[in-house]
Amino acid sequence: MATIQVKTENIFPIIKKFLYSDNEIFLRELVSNAVDATQKLKTLASLGEFKGEIGDTKIEVEVDKNSKTITIKDKGIGMTKEEVEKYITQIAFSGAEEFVTKYKDKVDKNVMIGHFGLGFYSAFMVAKKVEIFSLSYKENSKAVHWDCDGNPEYNIEEISNDTGRGTKIILHVADDCEEFLENFKIEDLLKKYCKFLPVEIKFGTRKDRIPTGESFDSDQDKKDGKEKTKEIEVDNIINNPNPAWTKKPTDLKDEDYKNFYHELYPMQFEDPLFNIHLNVDYPFNLTGILYFPKLSNKLELPKDKIQLYCNQVFVTDNVENIVPDFLTLLRGVIDSPDIPLNVSRSYLQADASVKKISSHITKKVADKLEELFKKDRADFEKKWDDIKVFVQYGMISDEKFYEKVQKFALLKNTDGKFFTFEEYENLVKTNQTNTDKRITYIYATNVLEQHGYIDAAKNKGYDVLLMETMIDSHYINQLESKLKHTSFVRVDADTVDKLIKKDEKQESKLSEEQIKKLQPIIEANVAKEQFMVMFENLNEKDAPMLVTRPEFMRRMKDMSAMGGGGMGFYGNMPEMYNLVVNSNHPLINRILTETDSEKQKILSKQASDLALLSQGLLKGEQLTNFIKRSVELI
Ligand code: ADP
Repeated sequence: MATIQVKTENIFPIIKKFLYSDNEIFLRELVSNAVDATQKLKTLASLGEFKGEIGDTKIEVEVDKNSKTITIKDKGIGMTKEEVEKYITQIAFSGAEEFVTKYKDKVDKNVMIGHFGLGFYSAFMVAKKVEIFSLSYKENSKAVHWDCDGNPEYNIEEISNDTGRGTKIILHVADDCEEFLENFKIEDLLKKYCKFLPVEIKFGTRKDRIPTGESFDSDQDKKDGKEKTKEIEVDNIINNPNPAWTKKPTDLKDEDYKNFYHELYPMQFEDPLFNIHLNVDYPFNLTGILYFPKLSNKLELPKDKIQLYCNQVFVTDNVENIVPDFLTLLRGVIDSPDIPLNVSRSYLQADASVKKISSHITKKVADKLEELFKKDRADFEKKWDDIKVFVQYGMISDEKFYEKVQKFALLKNTDGKFFTFEEYENLVKTNQTNTDKRITYIYATNVLEQHGYIDAAKNKGYDVLLMETMIDSHYINQLESKLKHTSFVRVDADTVDKLIKKDEKQESKLSEEQIKKLQPIIEANVAKEQFMVMFENLNEKDAPMLVTRPEFMRRMKDMSAMGGGGMGFYGNMPEMYNLVVNSNHPLINRILTETDSEKQKILSKQASDLALLSQGLLKGEQLTNFIKRSVELI
């Protein structure tokens, strides 16, 4: 009996405890070792250093519930006795030891232990005893058997009854890990971690139907052109060894990209909008395919996320810090051997090559969007509503992305027409420039609720943009700081004449004295702390009274509602509105000249209620009273 050379006592309990939350990765580690061994053999063969028959190189995984074992078998290069001593007991173990001395006091669950060179020893997370049977590809090798029960002691011997070239690892599953003896559990894990490994992995068999090539089962089948089929047993192959991202973009059709999307996300039935094939050699290695999904309106739990692979081995679907935040809603795969995986996430954030990867992805996304815009603008417009969230989020959070995208980012107006920034500026600059020489962009957040205001603005020859999503209010702030001489104002922020300040003055029909008389009558009808009554000389065809929401106050309210920091003060304030009285309207004159004070009150109340109603502010008892009063008036 020999002893594994370690200074740290009881290394296995520590490995086991530390890694417990992630113990399922043992399977990924052992299967990737088997893949490595197989690929090494193929490389040796291509170099002429291995002249034998390669044969079938399928890796087999088996579960035996009776003997409580999991077996992983490959037909790769195998190991001699000396190699097992060297690679398994010395080198691999020193990796494990380094890991333990470094991390035994830290409970940083984010450390990617799998890539710490302790792959093989992760077997002890679930096994009380591990056996290796191996036969090297080298001529005249003798088979070797190694076993270890989790102490730093192991047995090794040469054996005669070899099982053929390659390595077989047998895990004797520990009592507290018997869940791993369930077939479905192992199949799930294989599908999660090994789905795209480059060597075929077999897990048992499954039934399949194949055509016999003979006669037809029935007349109906004959009509339908269906052949007679029979049931056969086939290998249950877990993985696709040649996933799309490993191929050249020129070898792939649109259809192939779509099929791969559905292979990645079997529960997604909708096709993606478009994809971006990533292929970088320098200054880092990265391949992958990113998809812009069609997002549904309801807030989905983002369970279909971008998957990160390292040489086709699944690592994680937490790509935080590797992919810029605004693109985490994308789907697809990224495969890079250059992402340091054995470090904590906070370290990752500061890593220079990771930063480069992140900015490369950003650039590729911007390039792809530009290409789509230039190639087929109509199609780009069709997709805009689905991609605008990503684009706007990116423009807000990433300066460089903004610079690239501002040439073709679109604005949509309430008629459903699209404009680039430049086109829009040209469209409105003549008519919508105010006395301060600022161009005013008028926008609506809800075409139904703000219908009356939109109508009035359009009648005046103004254009109204549609800004209806959560992110739009941040986006507006961003655009105001970026676009020159431009400000945004919501369509109901002021009366249509004052939305854009111009020097046209209209004669007021009311004297100061008359206003003084009217003001208290109107004020008595609305909540004082919410409405400021003001008189304006609007057109006599406009409404007698209307409610507006000053832009600044409303934005502050919106920001605090969305949790913007430091907005508490505005968040606590009641909603503030202006109740604008149209001095030029005949009805106002009627109220003024009405001698019956009761009638005067009712007329005024009716007019202000109508204004509130059009902003959706008339509710509950007030609304009931309004309806009753209206009926009486009719
Ligand atoms: P790593 O794979 O990161 O080098 P491991 O602990 O997983 O670390 O494996 C240590 C070494 O043992 C490998 O580098 C390889 O030389 C050898 N080895 C492990 N599994 C196999 C296998 N199935 N066939 C041949 N060699 C293997």
